[in-house]
Amino acid sequence: MFCYHCQEAKKNKVCDTAGICGKKANVSSLQDMLMFSLKGLSFYTDRAEEFNLVTNKTSRFLAKALFSMVTNVNFSPADFVSMIEEAVTRRNSVRKQFMAAYQLRNGEEFNQPLPEEAEWQYSELSEDELTEKGATVGVERDMERLDEDVLNLQECLLYAVKGLGALAIHNLELNIEDDEQYRFLHQALNFTLNKNNTFDDILPMLDKSGTLGLSAMGQLELANNNKFGDPVPTTVYLDTQDNPGILISGHDLQDIEDLLEQTVGTGVDVYTHGEAISAHAYPALKKYFNLVANYGGAWQSQKTEFPKFNGPILVTTNSIQQPKKTYQEKLFSTGMVGWPDVPHISDRKPGQRKDFSNIIEIAKQSEAPAPLNEGKITTGFGIKALTDLTEGIAAAIKANKIKRIIVMAGTDGRHKERKYYTELAEALPKDALIMTAGDTKYRFYQHDFGLIDNIPRFLDAGQSNDFSAIIKFLKHLQKTLDLETLNILPVSFDIAWYEQKTILMMLALFALDFKNIRIGPTLPPFFTPNILELLANKYGLKGIDTVENDIEALMAGN
Ligand code: SF4
Repeated sequence: MFCYHCQEAKKNKVCDTAGICGKKANVSSLQDMLMFSLKGLSFYTDRAEEFNLVTNKTSRFLAKALFSMVTNVNFSPADFVSMIEEAVTRRNSVRKQFMAAYQLRNGEEFNQPLPEEAEWQYSELSEDELTEKGATVGVERDMERLDEDVLNLQECLLYAVKGLGALAIHNLELNIEDDEQYRFLHQALNFTLNKNNTFDDILPMLDKSGTLGLSAMGQLELANNNKFGDPVPTTVYLDTQDNPGILISGHDLQDIEDLLEQTVGTGVDVYTHGEAISAHAYPALKKYFNLVANYGGAWQSQKTEFPKFNGPILVTTNSIQQPKKTYQEKLFSTGMVGWPDVPHISDRKPGQRKDFSNIIEIAKQSEAPAPLNEGKITTGFGIKALTDLTEGIAAAIKANKIKRIIVMAGTDGRHKERKYYTELAEALPKDALIMTAGDTKYRFYQHDFGLIDNIPRFLDAGQSNDFSAIIKFLKHLQKTLDLETLNILPVSFDIAWYEQKTILMMLALFALDFKNIRIGPTLPPFFTPNILELLANKYGLKGIDTVENDIEALMAGN
């Protein structure tokens, strides 16, 4: 096993026997085998594009398979075996069509050398055989044939591509598809099969993934706003009520709406967990009186928080952890999430809602949630609310009442070093405005940050997917302040990373030419010293330092 694609890799190097996340060696090998199979598929789909032979069905499958390998999404060996089979079946079908089209056009057979991924023969291998094969085709194999820096920078590209696949599937749920994004997924996977790539070849691919990632986030934000209304600043309560409840975690607003609609009048309340807290701000969701509160904090607290909830828990989109026995029988997954023996709620049929009747019946028999937190938080500073504040923020900047905007977006995790984000947010000077998107906010969300000229000092845009709202706001602020470029705004980014979508967020900032971005609490293990030097020179990327040093540097724009 060799996995180092999240911030919790063992000793910030690699998980080599079992994942801190709960991923076992067999699942890691099957994921490597799936990536191997997808590269083989993309070898042909990237070439078949010019013959118009790649269907949206194949692109959707590719995006879905990439999403399944994002950290903490799917741990089910059976799901990976099924996706490997589909990848090879699709590869063989596209290969046949491509070979025929190529010969017809060129009058000769396609005779370029084939990588192993493109010609590997598969016929009904067992899960064990696929696991065994997968153990030979991961990063360790590539270490023997690629330059260390090239390999690691390409891995970074693959993580960005997985993040992009996840966003494409979120968008697909809302009937949005983007040919350029799909095209890039095929292109990027095929690109990594070239053993002669250099930094100069990889950097434009990273740049493009950042640009497409931001555009995918923007599409999702818009699609959610069109469907559920523009988020409005909303007070979310953190305490519990007397009815039994269902706890919903993850990002999928459509799942939340389906659940709310089916629980109306049943005596069952709905609580959000993790990034699902953003649901409270959408008019089409907040209208449900039984969407009562947020329960608990970020994803990594589930093992201590879920047992106290008492009712059933539904995990959508990602962030599932190995369930404890104390709540396993009340845990359900849906969408791309999977854990062996955790019941999975099937996808919705066209024009219908997902069927949550089973978990609603279980909820009715459950006790009410045990109290966990008290108080409240305000969320919902989506693009409309931020736009409404732009004139005031611009005036406060001109009057030197706001000296700096500090964006603390990204994903939370378990490391104790993450207390840095709490301490930094709370110690920032009172003329610093704090903006968040993602669950890092749980580190400081209950602190009273006060106001600057009636503008809340703490503005939470919502999910990490809502990062695009912050970027759109900054573009609007740039125009209002009449600044020539975006990157001369008084804004600094202090990003907490955990998994692939945060890497995509970082690449989006690079693509927008923002400088001096901080990534923490540790730098990605796949950034070698040479990669770090490159990113530091080109983008001013840096890790975090002490709270005191970073506040001084952030406020000075360094
Ligand atoms: Fe380790 Fe993270 Fe990979 Fe899990 S996802 S095996 S914690 S590096």
